[in-house]
Amino acid sequence: MNRTLRTIDDLVAAHLVSREESCALEAVAARYAITITPTIAALIDRTDDQDPIARQFVPSAQELSATAEERADPIGDARHAPVPGLVHRHEDRVLLKAVAACPVYCRFCFRREWVGSGDALSADALDAALGYIATHREIWEVILTGGDPFVLSPRRVRDLSGRIAALAHVKIVRWHTRVPMVDPARVNGEFVEALLAGGATTWIALHANHPREFSRAARAAIARLGDAGIPLVSQSVLLKGVNDDADTLERLMRAFVEMRVKPYYLHHPDLAPGTSHFRVTIDDGLALMTSLRRRLSGLALPSYVLDIPGGAGKVPLESRDVEKVGDGSWRIRDAGGRWHAYPPK
Ligand SMILES: *Cc1c(COP(=O)(O)O)cnc(C)c1O
Ligand code: SF4
Repeated sequence: MNRTLRTIDDLVAAHLVSREESCALEAVAARYAITITPTIAALIDRTDDQDPIARQFVPSAQELSATAEERADPIGDARHAPVPGLVHRHEDRVLLKAVAACPVYCRFCFRREWVGSGDALSADALDAALGYIATHREIWEVILTGGDPFVLSPRRVRDLSGRIAALAHVKIVRWHTRVPMVDPARVNGEFVEALLAGGATTWIALHANHPREFSRAARAAIARLGDAGIPLVSQSVLLKGVNDDADTLERLMRAFVEMRVKPYYLHHPDLAPGTSHFRVTIDDGLALMTSLRRRLSGLALPSYVLDIPGGAGKVPLESRDVEKVGDGSWRIRDAGGRWHAYPPK
């Protein structure tokens, strides 16, 4: 099985879904992109119908059920987009969504309404985004996200990092990616070299949610990045049925640290459409963090954060900015001091 899987027929042929399920899943496929790399397909235990790798990538008919609080743009990117492809929510840093494609499509993706459209930013739109960054001298950090910018060719990565790093006020170029886990062969010597732009410091935020994603090939890819002197931090999403138990989270965080990756964020799942089957409660998340704090050194502890729906930014959930107001309902204070209901009304 050495082929990337993109259709329901591919998934049936790979024994990841049954013929009986395939009809309902065609409706999911018509709405949300599907891609599973050979690396990920090989990690799935087909004898386990609760397999945490399968759950992240194999579509489910539950994706067709949207709930009232879900929204197409859960974290409010559009509210802070001065030009297409750029999100400027915090003064000193911007997100640059250079590409709408990913090497895999996570079933819980917070940008699922947008990724998979496949479009890279057009040359004109990229010029406009870089023009905005050039004229906003308060921008110290450019965060390349998407989609997943590691799907770009080494030539395009070199071009992009070079153009950003050439701006004197930009000191940090941060890449957010899942590629080292899901398509590790892409991270070859030529690619790693392309990431190193003179004039700015390269950082990587690596997305992984389960310790089994650390295959031998993934570990080798992460080591190539570390050996090139690139500092790495982690991002994980807290997901029901994938990693919502203290043992799995402990093993995940230890795996990161063993690979020279500092655990950074554990994200509370966003209100993306058709993802309620992945959502844990904030109470459960806080209890898991309490267990992790007992088990792990500070080096291995991530910060548990929620992106306030609508675009008010990320808030650490273990803080005085979070108050329970009822069963399953909370109020959360943004950095500007305003309170927001969660879930939103
Ligand atoms: C998450 C995010 C960032 C990065 O935030 P850090 O806390 O610096 O990791 C920057 N801009 C936007 C719009 C974000 O959503
Ligand atoms: S890699 Fe990131 S952007 Fe792409 S589908 Fe997964 S969560 Fe979404």
